[in-house]
Amino acid sequence: MNKIILKPGREKSLLRRHPWVFSGAVARIEGKAAAGDTVHVVAADGQFLGVAALNPDANISARVWDWHEATQINTAFFHRRLEAAIGIRRTLFARKSAEAERLVHGESDGLPGLIVDRYADVVVVQITSAGCNRWREAIIEALQRITAARAIYERSDADVLELEGLSARTGLLRGELDAPVVEITENGIRLQVDVAGGHKTGFYLDQRDNRLRVGEFAAGRDVLNCFSYTGGFTLQALAHGAASVASIDSSADALRLARENVRLNGVSQDRCEWVDADVFQHLRKLRDQNRHFDLIILDPPKFAPTAATAERAARGYKDINLLGFKLLRPGGLLATFSCSGGVTADLFRKIVAGAALDAGTDAQVIGQFHSTPDHPVSLAFPEGEYLKGLLCRVN
Ligand code: SAH
Repeated sequence: MNKIILKPGREKSLLRRHPWVFSGAVARIEGKAAAGDTVHVVAADGQFLGVAALNPDANISARVWDWHEATQINTAFFHRRLEAAIGIRRTLFARKSAEAERLVHGESDGLPGLIVDRYADVVVVQITSAGCNRWREAIIEALQRITAARAIYERSDADVLELEGLSARTGLLRGELDAPVVEITENGIRLQVDVAGGHKTGFYLDQRDNRLRVGEFAAGRDVLNCFSYTGGFTLQALAHGAASVASIDSSADALRLARENVRLNGVSQDRCEWVDADVFQHLRKLRDQNRHFDLIILDPPKFAPTAATAERAARGYKDINLLGFKLLRPGGLLATFSCSGGVTADLFRKIVAGAALDAGTDAQVIGQFHSTPDHPVSLAFPEGEYLKGLLCRVN
């Protein structure tokens, strides 16, 4: 077996079952292993640590598949892991066939670099590690057998691919898909998801339950949904009787689908305002126009993928949250989110507190948000917890 041998003292994180081996921790690689091949991770004193996929040229030199020396990485291994991940969802959540769910959440499901989302009877995979790429056929075959999906579509076009030395791959892998737009239901709402052209694998499933929770506060209120994408929050707000919902996004395609989603649900467009604009600029415009709202949603894209970029991200969050607080009527609610891995929940709360202070408002936290439970976070892998949010009420 090929080996990746660590520098003295660098075994600690692996003993805590954190699955990444950083290049700086590696003393040497023994044997002729290429990217994606299986290696044993070994401490400086020869102690076995884990069975991993190697990626010698990447910053993450190896990602651990398993912690037992005898484990063989083969087709059967992937079948077992996928069956386990999907089985957990079936047992715990029993999502209906018309719904959407995350079936595999990377490291937290023991499959580093693999995301699998189900949109009704269509499965979308995203492969972003050399290890999963090496085993792609085994993974896809197992997914086909376990899910019996009508189609399996690949969306391996994330930014992180470059870091792994992989090139983008997208397209239909199995089955048939006459149109790339798939209809799902989510907490009573019908939504169209563009699995070929949409963001990520097509939709932001991590916000499913938060969309419902926020929507439940919308009755009779004037709502401003910032970074609306295809209207997930907008539709929940409308369904719960919002007086009006203004949705802002800089993607014309997303707004077009959002409008179609409103139509699909038989809701009149009378209560809707669609704004194709930059949120940072448009919030200033609304402030200058002296517009006010009762419920504001801020769900921006990732400003800081890593802790190193947290400072710049903090300025972005501060800016929109400050403007958000200023645009609220007395008694209004701000549902504010961050999906930046580099910004911790603690830091995010401090940024939001600073924004409230600078806006001259007194605010209370009346709720906290996390990703939906089909995006589990392994206790050994805190990086898996990227989405955090606060529901604030202003006086
Ligand atoms: N709330 C959405 C997900 C938001 S994802 C949901 O529940 O599905 C972030 C969205 O922000 C994307 O749709 C993207 O097009 C949009 N976006 C990114 N930067 C923006 C900017 N500066 N101004 C307006 N929209 C932006």
